[in-house]
Amino acid sequence: MPQDNPASETITARCCLVGGGPAGMVCGFLLARAGIDVVVLEKHSDFLRDFRGDTIHPSTLELMYELGILGEFLRRPHQELTQIGAQADDFTVAIADFSHLPTHCKFVGLMPQWEFLNFIAEKAKVYPRFHLRMETEVTDLLIENGKVAGIHAKSPRGALEVRADLTIGADGRRSIVREKAGLEVLDLGAPIDVLWMRVSRDPSDPNQTLGRFRAGKILVAIDRGEYWQCAYVIPKGGVDAIHKRGLASFKDEIASVAPFLRERLSELKDWNDVKLLSVAVDRLRQWSRSGLLCIGDSAHAMSPIGGVGINLAIQDAVAAANILAGPLAKGAVTDERLREVQRRREFPTRVTQGFQVFAHKRFIGPAMRHARPLIRLPFPLKLLQIFPILRRIPARLVGLGVRPEHVRTPDTKQQTSRQG
Ligand SMILES: Cc1cc2nc3c(=O)[nH]c(=O)nc-3n(C[C@H](O)[C@H](O)[C@H](O)COP(=O)(O)OP(=O)(O)OC[C@H]3O[C@@H](n4cnc5c(N)ncnc54)[C@H](O)[C@@H]3O)c2cc1C
Repeated sequence: MPQDNPASETITARCCLVGGGPAGMVCGFLLARAGIDVVVLEKHSDFLRDFRGDTIHPSTLELMYELGILGEFLRRPHQELTQIGAQADDFTVAIADFSHLPTHCKFVGLMPQWEFLNFIAEKAKVYPRFHLRMETEVTDLLIENGKVAGIHAKSPRGALEVRADLTIGADGRRSIVREKAGLEVLDLGAPIDVLWMRVSRDPSDPNQTLGRFRAGKILVAIDRGEYWQCAYVIPKGGVDAIHKRGLASFKDEIASVAPFLRERLSELKDWNDVKLLSVAVDRLRQWSRSGLLCIGDSAHAMSPIGGVGINLAIQDAVAAANILAGPLAKGAVTDERLREVQRRREFPTRVTQGFQVFAHKRFIGPAMRHARPLIRLPFPLKLLQIFPILRRIPARLVGLGVRPEHVRTPDTKQQTSRQG
């Protein structure tokens, strides 16, 4: 249990999770639910950040079903996406159809990520062994005899040291944990960046979430009820040139892909309303070293293609909890157990990143280079239109991913109430 020491605080926990994103919060929740003393450290004071991945995949919804919290979750405001389509010049094409997935929810839920994280935090706080420390930024690892023994952090209350049998880095694509641990990063490269913006929605707008390709420009407009969350794909490092051309020219570019937005683009007052996501695709060669494991984006940054980063992060969290809860309950975790998490999750990561790199090279890159209108649909898209059954394949890849995980950790609360 954490113990306070107001001068320079030191706390101990069985497991210290760095980062309160989807990976850290879900892993912390599952471990605490299994009776493990867990502390999650999050550098921000709340979960409120705009333009994060806001997709709750059928696989995640299925996990909620397994945890018995799905009904309550679905009562929170969200949208349900049953199909994914695209408009390529004058062709409108269907790409993925989630309605045949073997899950209780046959759709992707759209919900601001802070809502999802608040929900998980609420559920986790029911367990007395779950401790969440906001506004606590990890600055270094505590290494003793070559083994990671915890972390150093700073918070408004001063310096903090957490001593833990296991430290899990879930601190995202710019992970300080993986850097300080000296874990080697394999950069797979990404030829694109993404500009995110929000534009209000009008009842007369087309009512479908679509990727739009026109004359070398790519815009994904996600229907968020009252507004469109728009992602405009640009060549890697191209943001300076766009800034140089000016905001008016940028709005013209957007309107040329999605003319129905033209009037409302005046809502973009300055460049602060347009956020840059520098796309990276990478993964660690080794996800662990003695006393430390990385999961989620800190183990493998994903491209936004397919919107699967959150899915993979959560699946890693479930696999890590499944494999490590037992050993953590008994004491220290061996290096072999940590490697088992990588063995379990590396294959899905490689396959998904393989698809993303292929899509960058074969579709996105060429689509941006060739500004000529399409005369005919690319063959794979044509197949999806002729044989609708094939749309189940992208739906499975996006909705469930490769090797979906299931909750295998116990619920100590239920066990206690049964014994009581
Ligand atoms: C603009 C944007 C849009 C995206 N859209 C989608 C989408 O539609 N669908 C999808 O599936 N994925 C999407 N992604 C990717 C997705 O958000 C990530 O893959 C996913 O959030 C990874 O989860 P994570 O928990 O591993 O890391 P993160 O979500 O990055 O969480 C890491 C957490 O660690 C905290 N942290 C970082 N450093 C420290 C530190 N030193 N100390 C303490 N805390 C720290 C951060 O504040 C953060 O809360 C998008 C990403 C971005 C940036």
